[in-house]
Amino acid sequence: MKVRIFTPGPTPLPQEVKLSQARDIIHHRTPEFSEIFRKVCDGLKYVFQTKNDVLVFSSSGTGAMEAVIANLFSWGDEVLVVSGGKFGERWTEISKAFGLKVDTIDVDWGRAPDPLQIEKKLQENKKIKAVFTQLVETSTGVVYDVKGISSVVNKSSAVLVVDAISGLGAQTLFTDEWGVDVVVAGSQKGLMLPPGLSFVSLSTRAWQLVDNASLPRYYWDFKKARASLSRGQTPFTPSVSLICALEESLTLIREEGLANVINRHRIFAEAVRKAVSCLGLKIFGNPPSNAVTAISVPTGIDAEKLRKKMQDDFGIVIAGGQAHLSGKIVRIAHLGWMDKIDIIGVISALEMSLFQLGYGVELGKASKAAQEVITGNII
Ligand SMILES: *Cc1c(COP(=O)(O)O)cnc(C)c1O
Repeated sequence: MKVRIFTPGPTPLPQEVKLSQARDIIHHRTPEFSEIFRKVCDGLKYVFQTKNDVLVFSSSGTGAMEAVIANLFSWGDEVLVVSGGKFGERWTEISKAFGLKVDTIDVDWGRAPDPLQIEKKLQENKKIKAVFTQLVETSTGVVYDVKGISSVVNKSSAVLVVDAISGLGAQTLFTDEWGVDVVVAGSQKGLMLPPGLSFVSLSTRAWQLVDNASLPRYYWDFKKARASLSRGQTPFTPSVSLICALEESLTLIREEGLANVINRHRIFAEAVRKAVSCLGLKIFGNPPSNAVTAISVPTGIDAEKLRKKMQDDFGIVIAGGQAHLSGKIVRIAHLGWMDKIDIIGVISALEMSLFQLGYGVELGKASKAAQEVITGNII
């Protein structure tokens, strides 16, 4: 049986990416590597929609989140975290681990923050140095209004740090145009790579914080990374094969066009939502993201049994809920290397699994709804 993954990281790999991993390793202190690295850094600017350098690290996404804290702040600095799910909580946990004073905007899981709440906090406390948020809160499937958040944060002296690890390439993010200071991303989501690379872009304002920050750092030193980058290098041995693979995936994104890539995600997300609603299930997250759809599992259906059925009988891997949402939701990602037939496939497997588990569904109804969305749109 073929196994197909619909998890919000890792995501499926394009053939070009897989094949690039099979090539002989090249040495990283060579003109050959530098040429690839420069090309990759250029492509990242396009995907990040920024003129600023995008730093590349060999780690999962969380490594880059931690690096941002270690590089921008000093012990006791005050920060504000939008906390609406597992990954918002992660910003709080890392900040506290580094001795920052954290205030939070607590958002019900499954909902998005109101930018006005953030504005109010920033007006009340002028000492807040940064606001941390997600673009997509992957644990709840919700997209946040980063443009709106940015416009209120930019009225203050704080910088805006956006975890776009799952959102990049799935949602519109105009980093420079919206005035987003720091964007963090990872390789194993919309960038269609295996796990192992993380990325950070920084605005001039963010670099000013780096100049004055005193938290300890060594491996993650942004200044070292920037100095090496200007020579087409990284300070330490990079994940050479992943960087070569990234060259391939960035080429695919450029060929399709970033706006088309995002539009494809939007249409697939809509197809999944329409299909799921047809089955009488509720979408958990509001507003729902283009990257992942979180679905409430009604009492009477065991979420884990459903996931197991989809995996065992159809080779379809979806995600469950995290923390207190475990058993209450399932999450279907439509992120990265996905095509129309993938979407029809996951919906078809979902309705067949529900059918076989005795949940009274009419076979084909949800698939039809997904087909209607897909055929009704130009992709
Ligand atoms: C996946 C994800 C992370 C964590 O990334 P790792 O690569 O697992 O460290 C952080 N934030 C968001 C929004 C994510 O989707």
